[in-house]
Amino acid sequence: MRILVCNDDGIHADGIKALAHEMKNLGETIVMAPDRNQSGASQALTLSHPVRIRELDKAFYSVEGTPADCVHMALTGFLPHPVDIVVSGINHGSNLGDDVLYSGTVAAAIEGCNMGLKSIAFSMIGRHSKHFKTGARIAKILVAKLIKTQLPAKTLLNVNIPDLPFDEIRGFQVTRLGTRRRADPLIQSADPRGLPLYWIGASGEEEDGGPGTDFYAIKQGYVSITPINLDLTHYKVFEQVGRWFEMHSDVVLDN
Ligand code: MN
Repeated sequence: MRILVCNDDGIHADGIKALAHEMKNLGETIVMAPDRNQSGASQALTLSHPVRIRELDKAFYSVEGTPADCVHMALTGFLPHPVDIVVSGINHGSNLGDDVLYSGTVAAAIEGCNMGLKSIAFSMIGRHSKHFKTGARIAKILVAKLIKTQLPAKTLLNVNIPDLPFDEIRGFQVTRLGTRRRADPLIQSADPRGLPLYWIGASGEEEDGGPGTDFYAIKQGYVSITPINLDLTHYKVFEQVGRWFEMHSDVVLDN
């Protein structure tokens, strides 16, 4: 069993160290992660310049790129041998609901999934998460299960873990993604020369955080496991958009 570990907080983050340490109990573990914090990088690949990779320790690689770069490069020629599973995290902070579309942690798992591998992403609740040992123990339990399970193609698991001592975790819940409200407004400030600077505002509070969602499970002290399907096509809207061309004879392709 060969396990590729990645994250988006960077190779030196506590979360990935705890995760890699625990994964070594399950198989040969290779760590490949960005050399700096890449939170919010989503699925970005570096295409405009070359990407340097440094071996900091045995099977422990620092990548001058994004989380998706790490997994992509690992699986398309950098590693001399195949990998069985991609494990991402443990992120410092939750990835609930709409967050999965921005998260570099989830993106690393998506990249593994796109390459046809079993993939799972782990995130810990809280801006200053403390209980990464709890997170790593949870990760070991779930990765061991995933290794023995064949999920459908284009499927990955997104896991959020309450920032609690292991004994205070109430259990596991399989959840759907909730949703968030609109993000907070742009924050404007100025540099020392008086020129304007902008910060993207914080993500919104939950809008759909009701029973069955990842938000809800976490609040109750459960580990939330959301199966994610990479088929983003909205089949229910086919007919509605298709009707544009039935009802309006004025729609003419202009070429
Ligand atoms: Mn992060």
